[in-house]
Amino acid sequence: MIEIKNLHKSYKMGSNSLHVLKGINFSVAEGELVSIMGSSGSGKSTLLNILGILDEADSGSYTLDGLPIKNLNEKIAAQYRNKFLGFVFQSFNLISYKNALDNVGLPLYYQGIKHKERTDIAMSYLEKVGLADWAGHLPNELSGGQKQRVAIARALASNPKVLLADEPTGALDTKTSYEVMDLIQGINDEGRTILVVTHEHDIAQMTKRIVNLKDGVIIDDSKVNQVRALSNV
Ligand code: ADP
Ligand code: MG
Repeated sequence: MIEIKNLHKSYKMGSNSLHVLKGINFSVAEGELVSIMGSSGSGKSTLLNILGILDEADSGSYTLDGLPIKNLNEKIAAQYRNKFLGFVFQSFNLISYKNALDNVGLPLYYQGIKHKERTDIAMSYLEKVGLADWAGHLPNELSGGQKQRVAIARALASNPKVLLADEPTGALDTKTSYEVMDLIQGINDEGRTILVVTHEHDIAQMTKRIVNLKDGVIIDDSKVNQVRALSNV
């Protein structure tokens, strides 16, 4: 599903350059649930943004579902993102003046899907994340956990091949974090490929494979015995 080879990325700052990704190699097969672990500043978000076609590497190759991701113009990049990828962020990134249902339906709007069908699909995903009763509520009327559920429903609405989540539990308390991870595990149980960036060990143990990033290189990449998120609450 995802294959990257010898990926490098630097940020230029004036005459200085910060080498953030220093030759990353890894691949993710369909149906995997992978965490990318590492301390703050290790390059996790940089890597996820490249995988999400939100940013481009300086060198190396990236293939997504067999398609080379290289020198795409913004229109094609947006099409690929819409077709292949769903995004979940620490800060939820919901639109504050749209209710939960309209937030979930937004990717479908961009795909040109008509209002009635959009609403039906969005509602089915809100049901899936347990928030059907909250469809008419604005983000500021929802708890953090509920907001992240809405964001997950939105990410799924376009039926992406891969879900990319950058610190999805970073703004949540432990109990709520585990509930969100339970949802993510359930979505993966259905076969969806998911990458989760986290710096929390307990969250990483809830995936099936941990890729450990340190100073821009992968120092470990191992399968784990998945801990079910709600097994001890
Ligand atoms: P992580 O997500 O693991 O905390 P990041 O990928 O966000 O790490 O950042 C890695 C390094 O790159 C950090 O030192 C960060 O300050 C720097 N960095 C990230 N984004 C930019 C940017 N747009 N411009 C310059 N430096 C950046
Ligand atoms: Mg980050």
